[in-house]
Amino acid sequence: MIEINTQNLDKAIAKARQTKPLIKVIQFRRYSVTNKITGATYTVKFSKIGGKKLAECDCAATKVCYHIGAAIGIHIVLAANTVNA
Ligand SMILES: [Zn+2]
Repeated sequence: MIEINTQNLDKAIAKARQTKPLIKVIQFRRYSVTNKITGATYTVKFSKIGGKKLAECDCAATKVCYHIGAAIGIHIVLAANTVNA
């Protein structure tokens, strides 16, 4: 899991805006992100441990990737409606 913050999310969100992948909610904190051009689908997971916001994607990237950038938008909205998100 990678700790996410506004710095490392900025680029990921910018790339997600360009790529416009398809995002599906699998369950709370778990999303599937599909590149509409290549059809590649990855699973993004979010968690919160001791106040740290963490994210994980099963693609090859070792940094905060655009899949995380894409899923975080939906996650923030869903998490806002849930206690201890
Ligand atoms: Zn990824």
